[in-house]
Amino acid sequence: IFRPASRIEDLGVSEILAITARAAALKRDGRPVIALGAGEPDFDTPDHVKEAAIAAIRRGETKYTNLDGSPLLKRAIRDKFLRENGLDFGPDEVTAGAGAKQMLYNAMMASLDPGDEVIIPTPCWTSYFDIVRIAGGVPVAIPCPGEGGFRLSPAALEAAITPRTRWLLLNSPSNPTGAAYAERDYRALLEVLDRHPHVWLMVDDMYEHLVYDGFRFVTPLALDPSLKDRCLTINGVSKAYAMTGWRLGYAGGPAGLIAGMAVVQSQSTSCPCSVTQAAAIAALDGPQDFLAARRDSFAARRDLVVDALNRIDGIQCRRPEGAFYAFASCAGILGRTTPGGKVLESDRDFCAWLLDEVDVAVVPGSAFGLSPYFRISYATSAAELTEAMTRIGDACGRLT
Ligand code: PLP
Repeated sequence: IFRPASRIEDLGVSEILAITARAAALKRDGRPVIALGAGEPDFDTPDHVKEAAIAAIRRGETKYTNLDGSPLLKRAIRDKFLRENGLDFGPDEVTAGAGAKQMLYNAMMASLDPGDEVIIPTPCWTSYFDIVRIAGGVPVAIPCPGEGGFRLSPAALEAAITPRTRWLLLNSPSNPTGAAYAERDYRALLEVLDRHPHVWLMVDDMYEHLVYDGFRFVTPLALDPSLKDRCLTINGVSKAYAMTGWRLGYAGGPAGLIAGMAVVQSQSTSCPCSVTQAAAIAALDGPQDFLAARRDSFAARRDLVVDALNRIDGIQCRRPEGAFYAFASCAGILGRTTPGGKVLESDRDFCAWLLDEVDVAVVPGSAFGLSPYFRISYATSAAELTEAMTRIGDACGRLT
C-alpha cells in the first residue's frame, strides 16, 4: 500500500480539475453538459505562433536548451517587461519554465524554510495554498469579502504581517473573482510593505491583458522601483495568447532569487520545451493587435453573464474588472429546497445540484476559500453562455 509523504498527504488534485473531469464524463454519456469550470480561453493559439513552433522543429530546435530559457527567449521576456510594464531587468534577472505555475513553485521552493509564512488574500487561485504547503511554508489566508471588491485592504495586510512573513502574494486581475487592483489600491498596500522590509512581494500578472472598460493595468514594481530587490513579477503566455497547453511561464526578479529558482528547476524539468520557447518568442515579439478584439469579446461575454446572473432571484454578482471569471454569491439560494426534496446547504451542494439538474458545470467558491459563492468561467461561446444562464435561471426558479 502506498504511503504518501507527509508533504502531500493532506493534498488532493485541484477541485476544478475534478469538476471538469466529471463534466466531461457526463458529456461522454450523452448528457448536454455546458462546462464553465475550466480557466482557459476558447480562442485558438494565433497562427504566427504555431508557425514559429513548426519552423523551430524544422530547424532542429528539438534538444535541451539553456536551463531556464534560451538567450533569445530571455531577450523577448526582458523586452516585454520593458515595453509593456516599464520594468528594466538584466539577463540574470529573468527566468522561464513550464508555466507560471512552475514559476510560483520554483520561487516558493527556492525561498521558503519550514514555518515561513506567505500572506495570500482569498478567495484565490487554488494552487497558491498547496504550492506553499509543498514547499514547507504556511499559507496565511486573509479573507477579502465581496463588499471590499475582493481586494486586500492595507489594514488587513498590516494585521497579518509577523516576523515569519516571507511573502505577500498578489494576483490582479484575480482568478477567481476577476477583481483588479488600480494604481491607488496598490499604492496603499506598498506603503504598508515599505514599513516591513523583511516582507517580499510576489505578483501574479497572468491576466494582465484581460482588463475591460478602459481599466488601466499596472504592476507594483513599476509603481515603486525601490521594491526591486524584493519583488518577483510572474507572467506567462497561457491566458494572453491562448497557449495553455504549450506550458510557458516567466518571471523577473532579483538575481539571487532567480538563480535559486534555476537550481530548483534544474532538478525537476531541466528546461522549458524547446519548441514552446520558439512559440513564446513569437507571441511576445509578434503583433499584439489581435489582443484588443479578444478583449472586447471577453468584455461582451462578461456583461452577458453578469447581467443574467443578477436577474436571478437569490444570486448576486459583482462586475469584475478583468480575467474571464464571474464570481457570484449564492447566499440567497442556500436553505431552499430542490424539487427532489434536498435542502441546498452550501455552495458545494448548489454546484453539484446544477450539474445534476441542468447539466451546467461551475466551481463552488469553497474551492477558492470563500463561501457561499460560485465561479463561472465565461471563456465559452455567447450561445453556450446564454443557454447556461437560462438553465441556471430555470433551475433556481424550481427551488422552493
Ligand atoms: N496564475 C493564475 C492566477 C492562474 O489562474 C493560472 C491558471 O489558471 C496560472 C497562474 C497558471 O498559468 P500557467 O498555465 O502559465 O501555469
